[in-house]
Amino acid sequence: MYDIIILGSGPAGLTAAIYCARANKKTLIIAGDTLGGQTSEIANLENFPGYMGSGMDWIQATLKQAQHFGAEIAYTSATDIKCDDNFKYTITCDNGKTYDANAIILATGARARRLEIQGAKELVGQGVSYCATCDGFFYSGKKVLVIGGGNSALNDALYLSDLAHEVQIIYRKPSFTRAEAIVRDRVAERKNIKPVFNTELQSIRKKEDSETGELIATTTNGDEIVCDGIFVAIGHEANTDYLDESIKRDDVGRIASESLPSGMFVAGDEKSGIKMQVATAVGSGCSAAMDAINYVNTKEN
Ligand code: NDP
Repeated sequence: MYDIIILGSGPAGLTAAIYCARANKKTLIIAGDTLGGQTSEIANLENFPGYMGSGMDWIQATLKQAQHFGAEIAYTSATDIKCDDNFKYTITCDNGKTYDANAIILATGARARRLEIQGAKELVGQGVSYCATCDGFFYSGKKVLVIGGGNSALNDALYLSDLAHEVQIIYRKPSFTRAEAIVRDRVAERKNIKPVFNTELQSIRKKEDSETGELIATTTNGDEIVCDGIFVAIGHEANTDYLDESIKRDDVGRIASESLPSGMFVAGDEKSGIKMQVATAVGSGCSAAMDAINYVNTKEN
């Protein structure tokens, strides 16, 4: 029996683990299959105060800190959560085990929104990617498209422009008002990044006679763009599918903390209204942990 179980091993979950374990609460992190969530894919984390470096290095150092204070970690994912009449929680995981706790913190984050156009799903892994830092290397010297117009799309374009010969950013609006000015300026300075505004894709298919596996992206205007790879960065949806219908969520799966039962707390990208940043995830992980610690202390007395 744990005092507090934290679901998720991104910045929110690991920060919560540091606070809970350091408050001498028996703490378990249910990490998912891989450590760190989206932060582990950030090639260059440069807006977290006091740190500039790879996201994964930051995650590993933060996990080490949580473990130093006694937090345990299990690399598995929750499939079900039950709560009894005394608000004791039982979490069933895909490793076949169950874990009990007096309080739980949901910090399972968010995932990339999928591009729902013809061919996009079928070609994932064959030219269509959702992770520039994972797959960008395969497009060294080639021509790629980035779909989207937010910070993620522009950061992906910058990362890819160091590898690819040409990067086109396909965006449905007339300018990049959604992204931060510093990122927009960097994109504007890159000679091999070409924004294509007011444009949406309708379908993607393989170019039949191509020996190198080129793709043809067709726009809603009927224009065809030949490229070697397509990187999709069109926003995020919360990873909250494992929760039952009693936990109220918005249209992208985010949870309002006010709607949660006693002993259940939420932090990070799956929390309604949060700005998706490592710094905000850290703050909300800290806040959820302090609430959970207070709750457990009150329950014990
Ligand atoms: P955003 O929600 O900010 O942007 C999503 C983009 O995708 C928008 O430009 C949107 O267009 C476009 N889009 C959505 N659906 C479609 C579709 N079906 N077809 C084509 N385009 C589509 O998501 P991000 O992932 O970029 O960012 C999420 C959060 O994370 C933001 O708060 C962002 O600031 C933050 N972030 C911060 C970073 C940083 O370094 N500070 C890095 C990365 C993310 P439209 O504008 O028309 O709605």
